[in-house]
Formats: sequence, C-alpha cells, structure tokens
Amino acid sequence: MTTLDLIRRRAEEDPGREAYVGGGARVTYGELWRDAREYAESIAAYTAAPVAILGAKQPYMIKTMLACLIAGRPYLPLDALTPAGRLAKILKASGAELIVSDSPVAAPGAAVCRPQEIAGLPRRADAAPSETAYVIFTSGSTGEPKGVPISRANLDGFTRWIGALPPLAELDGARVLNCASFSFDLSVADLYFSLCGGHTLFAAPSANDAVPLIRDERINAAVMTPTHARLCLLDPDFTADACPGFKCFYLCGEQLEVKTAAMLLRRFPALSLINAYGPTEATSAVCASVIRKEDLAGGLLPCGEVGSAACSVAVEDGEIVLRGDSVFGGYLGGEDGGHFTEGGVNGLRTGDLGSVENGKLYCRGRRDRQVKYKGYRIELDEIENCLLGVRGVSRCAVVAKRDPSGTVKQIRAFVCGDVTADGARRALEGILPPYMIPRTVTVLDELPQSGNGKTDRKKLEEL
Ligand code: AMP
Repeated sequence: MTTLDLIRRRAEEDPGREAYVGGGARVTYGELWRDAREYAESIAAYTAAPVAILGAKQPYMIKTMLACLIAGRPYLPLDALTPAGRLAKILKASGAELIVSDSPVAAPGAAVCRPQEIAGLPRRADAAPSETAYVIFTSGSTGEPKGVPISRANLDGFTRWIGALPPLAELDGARVLNCASFSFDLSVADLYFSLCGGHTLFAAPSANDAVPLIRDERINAAVMTPTHARLCLLDPDFTADACPGFKCFYLCGEQLEVKTAAMLLRRFPALSLINAYGPTEATSAVCASVIRKEDLAGGLLPCGEVGSAACSVAVEDGEIVLRGDSVFGGYLGGEDGGHFTEGGVNGLRTGDLGSVENGKLYCRGRRDRQVKYKGYRIELDEIENCLLGVRGVSRCAVVAKRDPSGTVKQIRAFVCGDVTADGARRALEGILPPYMIPRTVTVLDELPQSGNGKTDRKKLEEL
C-alpha cells in the first residue's frame, strides 16, 4: 500500500480520531483528509511546480503537504524563520510558483496564498502528477542550499520500513511527539509513522516544550535528535515516574553518545531506545538499532541492523554506501555529490565513515567537512562561501571546535580584509539560518598557512 493509501484508510476507518494536535488546533483524520483533498484539486489546477509551504507547526502545513501528495505536486516545507536571503535562493532553485503561508512573505516571482485562499486559486495548469513527493533543502558546500528531491516511491519505501520497525510497530493508537521543524527530514519520520499508523501526532512548538508535552499529554513515542534528548534530560521531570506513558524514543540525525543513552535507560528502565541512521538523501533514515544496557559497554553505539535496513547498506573503503529504493535520484540542478546509479538502482556514497560488525552498522565520523552541530547538518564550506560574498572579506576560514569525544561545540569564523566582525556576522544573518551563524568571528591580518601553502585549519581549530 502507498503512503497515501494508508492515510486514506485511517481517515475512512476512524474519521473522528485525532490525527494532529499543534498550532493551537486539534485536527481529526476525517478533517485532515477532507481539507487535503479540497486543497489538492485547486493546487493541481494552479501549478505543476513544487509548492512551498512556509510556517511553524500550524495544521495547514500538514494539510497542504498531504494535498500536494494527492495532487501529484512536490511540496517544499520551509521554516517560518528562514532568512529572506536563503528563502529567495531556495525558491529560485526549486522553481516554486506558489507559497502557502498564513503570514506575509516577500518572495519575488512566486504567488503567496493563505490556506483559506487555496480554494480560490485560478485554474491554469494541466500537468501529469509528478513522481517527486517533496524537496528538502540542506546545507550545500558550494555556498548555496542543496535541494534533495524525494520520490513517492522513496517515501513509500520509508513508510513501509518505519511502520515495521519492531518497537514502533507494536504501538497501537499511540500519542507521538513531533519536535523537528517540517523543513528537516527528521520530521518525515514522526509525521508519516504517525499518520500511516493511525496515531496522534503532537507538535512541540519549541525544544523546551517537549518534556511538558510528554508528561502532560501522556506521549508514548517521540522522535528527536540526541542533542534535543540531552536537553530533555536537564528537566528533572523527564523520568518514568513523571512520564509513565513514554515507551519509545526514536533518535536520529547524529551520533548518539553512550552517556546520553545510559542516562536515558537509567531514567526509563523499560524504554525502547532506537538509534536510527540515514541522510536526507535516503528518505530520513534507512536502518536502526534498539539500544540495550549491554550495548553501553562499548565506546560506540550501533546505529542500524544492516539485515533489516530500508535499502542495502555497505561499507566500501571505509565509507557507508547505500543502494536501493529509499535512495533519491540526484540533487535538484544535477550536482552529483555522492549520488550514482548502478544498473538502474540509485546509490549514495554518504561521506560517512563506518563499519559493519556482527550485522550492525557503526558510524565513525565524516570524510569531508560536513558537521553536525546541535543536531543540524552544516557544510562548513557553505559558511565560508557565504563569507567570501560579504563585501570587504578577502579570505576566510570556518572551523569546528570539538570536545574530546569529537562532538562539535562551536563553529568559528576567521576573516581577513576590510571588514569588522560585526559587519560580517550581520551579513551572514541575512542569508544563513541562526544555527549556521558562527559563534565567533575573528578578524585576522592573515590566515595561518601550512607547509603546502593551504590555510592551516588545524591551527585555527586550536585557537
Ligand atoms: P541529515 O541529512 O540532516 O539527516 O544528516 C545525515 C547525516 O547525519 C548522516 O550522513 C550522518 O553523518 C549523520 N547521522 C544520522 N544519523 C546518525 C546516527 N545515528 N549516528 C551517527 N551519525 C548520524
């Protein structure tokens, strides 16, 4: 069954059941499906291009996402906090002609439509349904955000895999927590797991709302990054006593440290703790391991059972390589970046270093300058390329400051030229999201050089 078939079946079987609680509203499966179908008709007749959906966690966002799936138009989820400069780049790269948003947006070249105006859109398009389900933009090393189109077949493969994942598959009529913004692929996991499974998805407005929601709404399962889980652990109420309904914790997106897993299993002795692995390019996640007490003895936790992955997972020359149904078909605009095809099958050289031991995947860092900072994926080269575009900057280097375990604690920029640290920072704020703004910007007369004349980034990391 396709992702859409599964959701439609839920709406037909139990229309009064709550599908989504967020943005101050409660939406039933019946209402979600009815509104999505209505929106779908107008959207399909208006545009053949991707549809940008801008907002926070309001119900119109999931209604419009579903509408786009029904209409056969790719959707492009965007966070309301996206800076104007980045928004303009993303809209241009995607070719979106329509932005659905409940607040005003400055977007030259695209029509902005409030959710209640969708039904009144003029009829002007007549195109076959697209194979692309959605496009998520992620950090790109060239200095431009990189569009990752995920096909309907990719999404169907992912929903089949996550729906069958043992501890999650056992949940029935569960209350599931969504934390990630819909513009990040982590949200694909909670959104489609919940809707396809007939569960109720509760959206946390901000990171600090997670524990109160888990406690007060008796949440059964949550999807987060390990960084966010560590934040939850700072709350003394995040315990099995205060949150008795909490059974399943699906973590993904970065290395899960042993000490975080150990604290979680101490606070929640009966918790099913899932460490999932995968990039945006392979539809959110491809494999997962349930972390048990005995796993805590090693220095590194497994992040997937290779035998039950959503696609083939191999380690070749030390790099994790994925092949199969959940792997995308290439970046928007044709940049290759690790994507390949082999006998008609999509593949991805992930850039992640890893190993497979006893059928379990272990992640061992990166072979390039992509980092995870507070759970966000960042190409340090994107920040450098943006800095080079700032007036007065002649040279620059962006480095990550790590703690002894390798976790990135700060991003730091060093610039040379006729520019102040404040000026450079302000320029970046117009084009990069807040998590990509370096903690410090230091103006230097010259960048240190290594023996071969290249910038000595190692030296800068130690400063
Ligand atoms: P994103 O596309 O934002 O989901 O980021 C994907 C990248 O996050 C992967 O290529 C890995 O570098 C990292 N990642 C995702 N899950 C894990 C995990 N369980 N353990 C270690 N790194 C992970």
